[in-house]
Amino acid sequence: MTRNFVYQAAPSRVIFGAGTLAQVGKEIERLGCKRAFLLSTSFQATDLTALADQLGPLAAGRFTDATMHTPVAVTQRALAVFDACGADCLVAFGGGSTIGLGKAIAYRNDAPQLVVATTYAGSEVTDILGQTENGTKTTVRDPKIRPEVVIYDPALTTGLPVAMSVASGLNAMAHAVEGLYAPDANPVTSLLAIEGIRALKDALPVIVSDPKNIEARSLALYGSWLCGVVLGSVAMSLHHKLCHTLGGTCNLPHAETHAILLPHTAAYNAPAAQQALAPAATMFGGDLGGGLYDLARDIGAPLALAELGLDREALVRVANLAVKNPYSNPREVTHDGILGLLTRAYDGTRPI
Ligand code: NAD
Repeated sequence: MTRNFVYQAAPSRVIFGAGTLAQVGKEIERLGCKRAFLLSTSFQATDLTALADQLGPLAAGRFTDATMHTPVAVTQRALAVFDACGADCLVAFGGGSTIGLGKAIAYRNDAPQLVVATTYAGSEVTDILGQTENGTKTTVRDPKIRPEVVIYDPALTTGLPVAMSVASGLNAMAHAVEGLYAPDANPVTSLLAIEGIRALKDALPVIVSDPKNIEARSLALYGSWLCGVVLGSVAMSLHHKLCHTLGGTCNLPHAETHAILLPHTAAYNAPAAQQALAPAATMFGGDLGGGLYDLARDIGAPLALAELGLDREALVRVANLAVKNPYSNPREVTHDGILGLLTRAYDGTRPI
């Protein structure tokens, strides 16, 4: 029997396909705007210059210092440049770090946002902003934070390094796996989650052997969009809490941490969420945790937290924090259970 549910669609406009970068100008005008403020990391500054050239007078100014974890000090610097150039909208070109900066600006001035997403992190379709101040990362949700328009141009992802593609793809799959057993999951988000996992599972091995394969790049970007929608629609549980703690308190890299933990958190929760996870487990031969681990190993993803330079002593601290604040999770979050999970993730052993 179908259980009762609430489904609320998120109001983003999504433009998908190779070559759609050419539509940025038209989309700025469609938003009723004339002066776009362009954002990227320093690594993607050359791409941003090309976009500014493409936009001509629609490009009012730019800022290429987007930084991981969205430091408030960087946002304040960018806001000053936004104001000085009289911009009326934002164009974020890049992954979660650049998108985070755009969201942080829009949270403060409600400027319309257009995102050109170039990784699989999924931030472009959520109303979630994580920002850092005085060494603490806090998360806010607000309708102003969700970008109005997203452009997914797979041609822009053929240069995403394979290691980053693999980690980012597993990061996206983690949104979908947790979405399946979310307390507020509904039939629509579960469909999106299953389709997102399938797309990434099929695409990532092809990307590893043929990084410029546009079919596989399209499939991965499509899957990451669906997984992002799940992240922005329902509550996340143990996996995202552990990654947030490892990222925030141990300064571990975002996508790689998600990639390493996913098989272990899926295995931990599998016995308590068998029905919800069944369609995903079937794709992995009936054992979701083990199957995800094998996929991660086969595509060369990092497998062990030790590889990221984490101190083994940190595991007890993270386990303490994980049990401190109660949150929804299908299986009871016990100190011993989490320490066991973290230890296997630290050593990179196959989950049990
Ligand atoms: P990132 O944005 O930090 O990108 C990593 C590096 O790859 C950067 O130097 C970037 O310029 C470069 N890069 C991006 N796309 C590229 C491409 N196509 N080709 C070549 N280089 C490219 O990494 P990320 O994993 O996308 O984002 C991580 C951040 O996003 C974290 O701070 C995380 O907390 C945040 N995030 C937020 C949400 C949310 O909903 N709020 C969701 C997911 C991630």
